[in-house]
Formats: sequence, structure tokens, C-alpha cells
Amino acid sequence: MLSVEAVSKTFGGVQALRRASLSCATGEILGLIGPNGAGKSTLVNAISGVLRPDAGSVRLADRDLTGQGPEECARAGIARTFQNIRLFKELTVRQNVEVAHITCRDVRPDAAGRIDIDRLLAQYELDAAADVPAGTLSYGSQRRLEIARALALGPSLLLLDEPAAGLNESESETLAEAIEAIRRDFGCAIIVIDHDLRFINRLCDRLCVMDQGQVIASGGTADVWRDPRVIEVYVGQ
Ligand code: ADP
Ligand code: MG
Repeated sequence: MLSVEAVSKTFGGVQALRRASLSCATGEILGLIGPNGAGKSTLVNAISGVLRPDAGSVRLADRDLTGQGPEECARAGIARTFQNIRLFKELTVRQNVEVAHITCRDVRPDAAGRIDIDRLLAQYELDAAADVPAGTLSYGSQRRLEIARALALGPSLLLLDEPAAGLNESESETLAEAIEAIRRDFGCAIIVIDHDLRFINRLCDRLCVMDQGQVIASGGTADVWRDPRVIEVYVGQ
């Protein structure tokens, strides 16, 4: 589904991405991990069109999305959440989800037809709060709304940047189950960034480990944790 090849990005003097490559198949949950500053969010920004890579390519299915902006990437089927929550805070919970659904209806009516907004709100325990401004929700509810809104886009690729940050253990367990349900119900490719390694190991089929802008290892979860470079990065922290 997704193929990222040799993407590089420099900010001033900082080389945030150095020829980073990864792929993610439909129905797969890929964990993207690595220390702070490794380049994980920058890579997700490059995939979702939030920033333009200096070099390299991003392809989704048979489309070349390299250098396209966020709207074009969303229309192509890439949905994401942000490390720092970004919602339309003055719009109601339901309106946040509806805005995404309208975008989907315009460009991918088949995917839009399979989405039931009431059901989505109920699944993410947002039905009781559907008509209040999104900015008034608790932190945990805002996190759930970000995911519900991303799903209303009918994505073929879902990018979750630190979705478990700030959640307690039982909330992250519920979140892991919800992400597995997304794979089952939507059949999309899913990339999850998180620092909670228990959460990541439990959830992901494959891992991609970054350090200093490079992908230093990728493969099956068990194999990656045997890789000496990965051990060095995590023990050295
Ligand atoms: P991670 O998500 O793995 O913690 P980031 O992708 O956020 O890492 O950051 C990678 C590197 O790029 C860091 O050194 C960070 O300071 C730098 N960086 C990220 N975004 C910007 C930006 N907009 N301007 C300048 N430097 C940035
Ligand atoms: Mg980050």
C-alpha cells in the first residue's frame, strides 16, 4: 500500500531524515519507534504531505504522492493524528467527524458509503458528547475524537503519532483493541508511533526503528528486538 523510498529532510543545519525508507501493506500494523528526535514525526509529516521532502519518494498504491500537500494526501486516502492534538476546537464533536466525511464523500464515495458517523461516535464513546464543542472534551476524549475523525476520511493508510501518550494502562489497552478493530473493519494499512514499548510490541506485526534520521532496522517484532543496533540504541538511552 505505502512505499517510502530514501526520503531526506534538513531543517537549517539539522538533518532530520537521512534516506529513510519503509513500506506498509494493507492490513498490516507497523510500529515506528526510536528515541526522541530520531525523525519519526518528520517521516509521518513527509508521508502525509505536511512537509515536502528534500529528496526521495512517497507512493500510495499506484500513486506518486511525493511533494503533494496535506489536502491531496488526505484525498488520496492518508489519514493521520498528531502528536499534539489538532482538532477544530470550536466545532462540535460531530462536526469534526462530518468535515472529514464530506472530504471522503467528494473523492472516494465508495469508502464514504461504508462509514456510519453515529456508529463511529458510539464506538469511540463520543455519542453523549456529540453536540458539545470539541475543545471542551477531556484529553482522553479528544484523543479518541482524533482517531474517529481520521477514520471518517475512509483511509487506506492511517498514521497515528503517539496515540497512547498520556493514557493510563487500561486506556492504552482499550486503544490497542480499538486499533485492532480498525484493521478488521477498515482493512487499511496502519503505522503507529509510540514510546510505550509494551503497547507497541503487543499491537504491531512489524517494527521500523529509527535513530538520528535513519531507519536502522525493520522486520518482524521479535527479530527487530534481537538486532544488535536496536539493542544498542535502547540500552544506550
Ligand atoms: P521524533 O518524532 O522521532 O521525536 P522529530 O521528527 O520530531 O523526531 O524530529 C527530528 C529532528 O528534526 C529533531 O532534531 C528535531 O528537532 C528536528 N525538527 C523537527 N521538525 C523541525 C522543524 N519544523 N524545524 C526545525 N527542526 C525540526
Ligand atoms: Mg515525534
